[in-house]
Amino acid sequence: MVSVVVITHMHGDHIGGLMTAGRPTFPNARYVTGQVEYDFWKDEARIGTPAENGHKAVLEKVVPLAERTTFIADGAEVVPGITPLAAFGHSPGHMVFRLDSNNKALMLTADTANHYILSLQRPDWEVRFDMDKAAATAARREVFDIIATDRLPFIGYHMPFPAVGFVERNDLGYRFVPATYQFDI
Ligand SMILES: [Zn+2]
Repeated sequence: MVSVVVITHMHGDHIGGLMTAGRPTFPNARYVTGQVEYDFWKDEARIGTPAENGHKAVLEKVVPLAERTTFIADGAEVVPGITPLAAFGHSPGHMVFRLDSNNKALMLTADTANHYILSLQRPDWEVRFDMDKAAATAARREVFDIIATDRLPFIGYHMPFPAVGFVERNDLGYRFVPATYQFDI
């Protein structure tokens, strides 16, 4: 049973599955997401802007769940062992999450990097989907600096198979090092 649904940001491909035929897809869940992200997309000021379709999607998919949702800021605790880090830029309130369990950690970077070569080896290069290009670049550097320094594994939604790996620093950015999925060899 899914008991907690954590939403990194509210682009359509990240909220589309929350409701099914007008009802919550996960009827027993509570929800956790960033206050900044929700406030941006819910605001009627988005009407007539490039964010209008996103606004409509949030009205349809997220607003019906608002009473079951905890809206958080940077550093709040989702549940013990899951901690958000503001990584604004890809979207206005985009958040990544650090997972700690049994003295191991994993970062869930969501859409901080949209391409495993372009966005990691050249983190300053702009990506069409990043709504605030400068902030997104700063967030990429901050998040992947942590991952490189602490040698953390991470899951990135647009990384190639198996979508979990590490980064090592190179001259201008980072190189994606996929985690092996062959455990017995
Ligand atoms: Zn996105």
